[in-house]
Amino acid sequence: MPIAGSCHCGGTAFEIEGELPEKLTRCTCSFCARRGTLYAYYSPHQFKLTTSAANLATYRWQSKLVAHHFCPTCGCATFSDSPAFEPDGKWDGKTRRLAVNARLFDGFDAADVAAALASRDARIGELEAELAALKGRLTPSDT
Ligand SMILES: [Zn+2]
Repeated sequence: MPIAGSCHCGGTAFEIEGELPEKLTRCTCSFCARRGTLYAYYSPHQFKLTTSAANLATYRWQSKLVAHHFCPTCGCATFSDSPAFEPDGKWDGKTRRLAVNARLFDGFDAADVAAALASRDARIGELEAELAALKGRLTPSDT
């Protein structure tokens, strides 16, 4: 099911052919930490801007490689167009990735995301308990 979203005033609206990722990214860079975006990542072909690109304002900092778009009318952080860096920081020089602010998605509730994270943490706790129990069973014969 496509995702639709928009900024507060509607100056920027978009559609995404994709799903809400299980995990959103709360970027800790000095810029994102200040504006509080929750990012969902998509490839550019999945993202369609349904309002005019002329409505976008753009902020670039440091390397200037990432275009952080926002709405100049209502101030909402909308999406960022970035090189698709690998985890080790490498980039092929052409592939782009869009980090879309999931807070703008229709019907989005950050509390639902927090709940999902909490339940994952609980599952990790269960696995750790299972692992500890298994280790406890192995210890007498393995040592
Ligand atoms: Zn707006």
